[in-house]
Amino acid sequence: MSSSIIRQQFPLLQQMMGSYPLCYLDNAATSQKPERVIQAMDDYYRRNNANVHRGSYQLSAAATSAFEAVRLKVQQFIHAPQPQEVIFTHGTTEALNLLAYGLGKQLQPGDRILVDSTAHHANLVPWQQLAQRCGAEIIAIPLTHELRLDHQALKVLLQQPTKLVALSHVSNVLGSVNDIPTLAQEIRAAGAICVVDGAQAIGHLPVDVQLLGCDFYAFSGHKMYGPTGVGVLWGRQSRLETLEPMLTGGEMIKSVSFAHTEFGELPFRLEAGTPPIAEVIGLGAAIDFLNSLERDQVQQQEQQLLLQLQQQLAALPGITLYGAHADNSGALAFNLAGEHHQDVGILLDQQGVAIRCGHHCAMPLMQLLGLKGCCRASLGVYNNADDIERFIKAMRTTITMLT
Ligand code: PLP
Repeated sequence: MSSSIIRQQFPLLQQMMGSYPLCYLDNAATSQKPERVIQAMDDYYRRNNANVHRGSYQLSAAATSAFEAVRLKVQQFIHAPQPQEVIFTHGTTEALNLLAYGLGKQLQPGDRILVDSTAHHANLVPWQQLAQRCGAEIIAIPLTHELRLDHQALKVLLQQPTKLVALSHVSNVLGSVNDIPTLAQEIRAAGAICVVDGAQAIGHLPVDVQLLGCDFYAFSGHKMYGPTGVGVLWGRQSRLETLEPMLTGGEMIKSVSFAHTEFGELPFRLEAGTPPIAEVIGLGAAIDFLNSLERDQVQQQEQQLLLQLQQQLAALPGITLYGAHADNSGALAFNLAGEHHQDVGILLDQQGVAIRCGHHCAMPLMQLLGLKGCCRASLGVYNNADDIERFIKAMRTTITMLT
């Protein structure tokens, strides 16, 4: 399927930014939504709105079936062994917080937690908070000078007893991809829990949690053409069962008295309160959308575009790319010598081009690079060669204006 046919399914992309058609290159922040996602949520509110899991009437039963059908869809989409291993959250951030809180009682003072140096704050701060609560130690996994995870250094770190290793699947800044199957195998062989933040991978790469071999995998709906406000924590059932629920209350219990509460079974014990029902329905429609694409072909097209973006941007005067490799996915980080990243972003915006500028919620990575921030262009399934041409042309104009 060509990117122009895909693009037609996204109403927001049809609009103008002033006198320019929108050139949207901030997909790592959030992707746009296809018509079928918008419609699915609209339909739910117009025709099926009822709370789930508790009603004795038809509407609630229909809402519950639609909601639980998405759990099965997610299970298939990420090839999880069991549907109850799919925990709905409000996003990756909540998924990782739920996990870090839930593991709390399993850590002792002095336990070591290794964290990828490219980690988004969502995959670092919850581990820091956990470490503070239980006296554990956080250790950064170094990067090579090419800004890839230093595999040798990780192997050395794993020679000491390690409780948990938190990795990015794909860096939200650099777009670099970690070889999760190899790393997870080594991490688990060393007796540590392997947690993967899949927020930037889920919309770009095929994700098969059994092939990846990690213990936990977290992602957000809004980065895979679904709505905001919904995400998933997948975990091995045996691991999920040991988590202390972060949220307690309705829906997650088996029985409650004033003297005692018995928690329910998975997945509900980790899904207290009314879930984001419409958002889960929207996530289901986003999976249908992704499944409707020839994903191998779309992934190849995206990869080609990323290469073009890397090569054409690198050829412009004063541009530094960070960790740009041919096997990266989705995103490209750069700066223009002597200019503030925000100035570049503002001038691009005036030409209808939307990118992200800042620290990208990865301040430790910025510190490693000696930067306050950088620009990031990031791709989605609807981007095409025209977008790259527009972006490069706008960058040329920006360079002329600023330098
Ligand atoms: N992890 C990565 C790699 C991300 O890129 C993001 C969002 O940008 C997050 C986690 C947090 O996702 P959310 O804000 O949807 O919870």
